[in-house]
Amino acid sequence: MGPPGVGKSTQAARLKDRLGLLHISTGDVLRWHIAERSPLGLAAHAYMHRGELVPDELVTQMTLSHVLSPDGAHGVLLDGFPGTTGQAHALDAALATRGRAIDAVFYLTAPAEMLIQRLAGRRICLDCRATYHLETMPARVSDVCDGCGERLLPRNDDSRHTAWRRLTAHPGQTRPLVDRYTHAGVLHRIDGRGAAAEVTARLLTALHATGLGESGKEVRRATG
Ligand code: AMP
Repeated sequence: MGPPGVGKSTQAARLKDRLGLLHISTGDVLRWHIAERSPLGLAAHAYMHRGELVPDELVTQMTLSHVLSPDGAHGVLLDGFPGTTGQAHALDAALATRGRAIDAVFYLTAPAEMLIQRLAGRRICLDCRATYHLETMPARVSDVCDGCGERLLPRNDDSRHTAWRRLTAHPGQTRPLVDRYTHAGVLHRIDGRGAAAEVTARLLTALHATGLGESGKEVRRATG
């Protein structure tokens, strides 16, 4: 969890292989549906364009089908989900059907001015979804993805106006979830400032403190 631009996708991409987990980014799945012009994409597009949350009924089923897929059998790393208490209820219920539960929730934090700067310089690959930043994480060749050679573009919802809307709405939207996971004893606040590698190190330290390790084996055991 964390506000737009705090580095959730960057960190999830860095952690997923080390932890042997399936990475599910709700925002990426939605952007894929929009690019494909699927019925779900057409329904979600206007909400995302305005910087609003997409309604639970569109997001929940889509995400949980990935969580419960065979690829997620060894554990999943959710990025941007749940975004509401309705989604959190649905996630708990779905995990319970497999005898599983949430092991840890990481809440990344950073000052608002840093988030605005990160959003303004953010670029994504339209094909493989890799994330870059013009100043802090530039591609080797300007506007071209290092991984797959596709074009890099700003996200539609990173425009100044929409980014500001998303940033100001975030604390109110997430407070019930922060309370929920604090109460459950699984929430860890992580300082999202600094280089990506420093933030990853903080996440791994917090993860180890929960008894979850770096190998997929340990994580599998911990997630049942
Ligand atoms: P993100 O890629 O996480 O920054 O999300 C981009 C946009 O996708 C958000 O501004 C929302 O419009 C939508 N979105 C992502 N995750 C969720 C969610 N869990 N619930 C509702 N909408 C979401």
